[in-house]
Amino acid sequence: MPFSPHYRPDPQFVALGQAFSDPVTPASFPSLRLVWRDQEAAASVGLETLTDVEWIDHFGRFQALPDMAQPPLAMRYHGHQFRSYNPQLGDGRGFLFGQLRDQSGRLLDLGTKGSGQTPWSRQGDGRLTLKGGVREVLAARMLQAQGVNTSKALSLIETGEALVRQDEPSPTRSAVLVRLQHSHVRFGTFQRHAYFESKEGIEALVDHCIALYYPHLLSFDGEARVAGLLQEIAVATAKMVASWMASGFVHGVLNTDNMNVTGESFDYGPWRFLPVADGNFTAAYFDQTGLYAYGRQPEAGLWNLKQLACALKFICDVEALTQAIRAYPPAFEEAQKHAFLTRLGLQVPSQAADGAAMLDAMFAFMARSGVSWDGFFHDWFCGLASQSRALAGPRRYLYAGKDFDVWHRLLGRIEPDRLGRLAHPYFEQPEPVSLDITEVEALWEPIAQRDDWTAFHAKISDIAALEDALR
Ligand code: AMP
Ligand code: MG
Repeated sequence: MPFSPHYRPDPQFVALGQAFSDPVTPASFPSLRLVWRDQEAAASVGLETLTDVEWIDHFGRFQALPDMAQPPLAMRYHGHQFRSYNPQLGDGRGFLFGQLRDQSGRLLDLGTKGSGQTPWSRQGDGRLTLKGGVREVLAARMLQAQGVNTSKALSLIETGEALVRQDEPSPTRSAVLVRLQHSHVRFGTFQRHAYFESKEGIEALVDHCIALYYPHLLSFDGEARVAGLLQEIAVATAKMVASWMASGFVHGVLNTDNMNVTGESFDYGPWRFLPVADGNFTAAYFDQTGLYAYGRQPEAGLWNLKQLACALKFICDVEALTQAIRAYPPAFEEAQKHAFLTRLGLQVPSQAADGAAMLDAMFAFMARSGVSWDGFFHDWFCGLASQSRALAGPRRYLYAGKDFDVWHRLLGRIEPDRLGRLAHPYFEQPEPVSLDITEVEALWEPIAQRDDWTAFHAKISDIAALEDALR
């Protein structure tokens, strides 16, 4: 098949030069079986016309894409992991396969996971488990459906190897994933150049990010440019974290190598969705202190931004950087209110205080009642317009008492947003589409036992219905 007219390769990262990445050779796998291809994401970058055979050639064998004038590049970065600095990071099992423009002109990366060893693999095998790949597909689809600014899992191909992992019954199956993401330049990419005290490297990265992701800053000079970039990243990060909070998403590993310059959510490992409102809910089994618990995600975002600011100190006055970071807390508060009201299908009220008071009362009710997180938002979508559904549904016995009454009264002051959405058949279902850990394990089980993908595909189509209902 010829490539679609929307295919516009535009490799830009390679121009930063040798200090930023290393050319690598992809692994060759014993077998390749396509298990997931996101046609909608593919269409956004002109890849939808590929046959499955061509798809596997490019995203399993990593045959170069036409006019993609770059080799596979393992990106160099460092980062703080659980608050300790690790200068041994970098793309250890992935690479930048190419960059292309989407139909709106945004520059998107094709980034791999599980594509083989690189100079940054340390003791690792450079591989991804099939379960890890399935989990990344699910997280990205669910977050996208809920309107979170997320990377897309473009392709997942099973690769026929047997892997040994501590956190999965082993041997376990292997896969290679390709994601579509609006930049893989991480906070840790800057930190690496700061570690080597390379002002030049930091300058080059700042120029790169402004030119490609924040071009309105091109007219700024000197320190205002650098501080302006930091402020943009701070606001974008605030919005991303706020949308996780409304979604009930716990990323799990909020290290500085897992946050990028566009504030796009990515790298889904041990993530979980909240079962109930619980600030201490933690996703990763190895996060023993709960550092990245649900309620601590906003603080983790800020802490990471401070590390980015530290790296930028080499080329910018501290006061200007401190000022830039001050944008984070108010941007987060505003974005969080917006995200929760959106999740409830409500308009952002003209009296900002109304929204804030209603949300405070809502959290109090949710935490004390132990209502299912997703169930609650499902029941009260568009506010009081859902009242008869909510009071007839499976959680009706929870919707009473003082905490409920306080919240309910405040809810009445806020208008629904696009009420017609309630007519979607999705809202006739008593239960919401959700992805809590028991569901994820339950859909993995038949794949592991008998290669039965029925439950996985059913979940993907349920998520599509959710996305459609919320649109
Ligand atoms: P993550 O926690 O997925 O963000 O990964 C942290 C670091 O470990 C990154 O530098 C990865 O490339 C590296 N890494 C994770 N798993 C592997 C693996 N199986 N082989 C090589 N490197 C890995
Ligand atoms: Mg990572």
